[in-house]
Amino acid sequence: MTKNTYDAIVIGSGISGGWAAKELCEKGLKTLVLERGRQVNHREDYPTMHTPPWEFPLRGQLPLEVRKENPVVSRCYAFKDDADHFFVKDKEHPYIQEKPFDWIRGYQVGGKSLLWARQVQRWSSFDFEGPGRDGFAVDWPIRYEDIAPWYSYVERFIGVSGNKDGLDTLPDGEFLPPWEMNKVEKLVQERILQAYPDRKFVIGRCAHLTQPQPHHIAQGRGQCMARSLCQRGCPFGAYFSSNASTLPAAVATGNLTLRPHSVVHSLIFDDAKDKVTGVRIVDALSKETTEYFAKIVFVNASALNSNLILLNSKSNRFPNGLGNDNGLLGTHIAFHNYRGSISARMEGHLDSYYYGRRPTAVMLPNFRNVKKQEMDFLRGYMSFYSAGRSGWGGARSEDFGADFKAANAEAGPWGVYMMMQGETIPKRTNRVYLDDTLTDEWGVPQLRVDVGYDENDEKSLRDFLDQGAEMLEKAGCTEIRQNDSRQAPGLDIHEMGGVRMGRDPQTSLLGKFHQMHACPNVYVTDGACMTSTGTQNPSLTYMAFTARAVDHAVSALKRGDLT
Ligand SMILES: Cc1cc2nc3c(=O)[nH]c(=O)nc-3n(C[C@H](O)[C@H](O)[C@H](O)COP(=O)(O)OP(=O)(O)OC[C@H]3O[C@@H](n4cnc5c(N)ncnc54)[C@H](O)[C@@H]3O)c2cc1C
Repeated sequence: MTKNTYDAIVIGSGISGGWAAKELCEKGLKTLVLERGRQVNHREDYPTMHTPPWEFPLRGQLPLEVRKENPVVSRCYAFKDDADHFFVKDKEHPYIQEKPFDWIRGYQVGGKSLLWARQVQRWSSFDFEGPGRDGFAVDWPIRYEDIAPWYSYVERFIGVSGNKDGLDTLPDGEFLPPWEMNKVEKLVQERILQAYPDRKFVIGRCAHLTQPQPHHIAQGRGQCMARSLCQRGCPFGAYFSSNASTLPAAVATGNLTLRPHSVVHSLIFDDAKDKVTGVRIVDALSKETTEYFAKIVFVNASALNSNLILLNSKSNRFPNGLGNDNGLLGTHIAFHNYRGSISARMEGHLDSYYYGRRPTAVMLPNFRNVKKQEMDFLRGYMSFYSAGRSGWGGARSEDFGADFKAANAEAGPWGVYMMMQGETIPKRTNRVYLDDTLTDEWGVPQLRVDVGYDENDEKSLRDFLDQGAEMLEKAGCTEIRQNDSRQAPGLDIHEMGGVRMGRDPQTSLLGKFHQMHACPNVYVTDGACMTSTGTQNPSLTYMAFTARAVDHAVSALKRGDLT
C-alpha cells in the first residue's frame, strides 16, 4: 500500500487531466496520472508528422474496409490515414447506442488534445447566468468573475491567438497576435454589421503560438507554421496539447508518475473511513488489477468516461455509483448542435488573393436570447464562417496548350461556408448508464448512451439556417444553400454533463469548486461537470476549471480539510 500511495491521483491525461497533473505537481504534490492508453511522447510518437501526401497510399483517405468496420469514428472529419492511430476504433471499445450517438474518442497519453481543432473561446456572464435566468437545468454555482482570472492564467500558458474585440458576449482574453481575415471575409463582416449592429463577426481565437513568448519557448514550443497538419501531432509544439505542454511541465517538477495502460475500473470508497481512498485499475496489457491510494482524486477521463467510472464505483454507501445520493449521476447529458450549415458564392473579387493556411475561422458569438428571452426556443448558437477561393484547375475541360496553362494558373471563384454550434438544453432523459451484463475486454461494464435532439434543437437549427441565409444575402452572396446534416449527437465531440455542478446536493453532484458533494476529496473537472453547454467550444473552460479546482484542493489539503 505504501508503494502505491501518492498525494494525488489524476484519471486521464487529456486536455483536463494534463492540466490537473501540471498544477498538482507544480504545487508540490506527488501525483500519479492513470491513463488507459499507450504512451505518446511529444514528437517521437508522431509517426506521420512529416509524411508528404504522396506517401500515403490513398493520399490520406482510408481504405473502404476500414471505413466499413468503423462507421462511427469514420464520420469524424479528422479520421484519415494521417491520424487514424490516435482515434479509438469502433470494435475495440464498444458502447450501446439507445439512440444514434457518435462517441469519438482518443485513448492515449494526451487523449484528444492531439486531435482537437484548438478553438478556444471564453464563456460570457450570459452563459453562466443562462440556466438560472431561463429556468432550465440548475443554476451554475459560479459566475464569469469566478473563472475569469483562471481563463487568463490558462490562456497565458497555452498561448491563444485572438483579437481584442470588446464584446460582452465573447470576452477578450490574454491574446497573442490574431490570424487575419481575407478580403471577402472582411467584406461579409462589414456588410452584416451594417445590417445588424449587434452581430459582429470576429477572427477566431485558437490555441496556436502566433508569437511564442519566452515561457512558451521554455516549454520547448515554437511558432505555428500554419501547416494545417495538426492532427498528426505538431513537431513545433505550436498548438496546445498535453503532450507538448502540460505533461512536460509536470515531468519537470520531478513529482509526476505517469502510468499508461491503466484502465481505471472504479474509485475505492472505504466505508469505515467514510471517504474515497484511491483508485482501482486493470492493466490494459496484463489484465491484472491493482489499487492506488491518494488523499485526493481528480476525475478527468473525458465527460462520458468520467460518468462511466463514477457509475461503476459502487460501495455499500453508494450502491448506485459514487456520490449518487440523488440518482442524477449520468443524467442531463448535453452536447452542441452542429447540424446546420450554409454554403454560398460571392461573385467578383477575382483580383483578390490570400496566402497560406490558417488554423481558425471567423466567428459570430450568439445573438439570440442573450439579454432576455425573445425567441420561441431557449438559448442560441455561435456561428462560424470562412470564405475562400475554390481550387485551381478551372480549365480542366479545355484543350492542352498555353490557354489551358494560363487558366489553370488562376484560382476559382469565392465561396462562403457557415456553420452553427448550438447550445442544447440538459434534460434528465438524456442520460448514460451501465449495461447490466455486457462488459469490455477489461471487465468494465459497457456504457449505454440514450441522448437525442429535442424540439428546442429543431427550432434553434431552423433559426440558424434562416438567419444565416438572410445574413449572407445581405452580405451580397448568391446561390445560398442551407443544409441540415442530421448528424447524430456526439459527432460535435462536445458531450457534457452527467456529474453537474450546482448549489444544492439534492439537484447536483458537484459544488462550486468541483468537489463531489458527498465525497469532497473527489474533484471532477472535465466535461462531465458542466451544468449547461453554452455556445462556445468547451475545452478552454475545462482547463480553467481544472486549474481553479487544483488551487482549491491544495489549499484545502494544506488546511487539513481533506484528510
Ligand atoms: C476532431 C476534434 C476536434 C475538436 N475540436 C475542438 C475545439 O476546436 N475546441 C474545443 O474546445 N474542443 C474541441 N474538441 C473536443 C476536445 O478534444 C475535448 O473537449 C477535450 O479533449 C476534453 O478533454 P478531456 O480531458 O475531458 O478528455 P480527453 O482529452 O479525451 O482525455 C481523456 C483521457 O482519459 C483517458 N481515459 C478514458 N477512460 C479512462 C479510464 N477508464 N482509465 C484511464 N484513463 C481513461 C483517455 O484515454 C484520454 O487520454 C475536439 C475534439 C476532436 C476529436
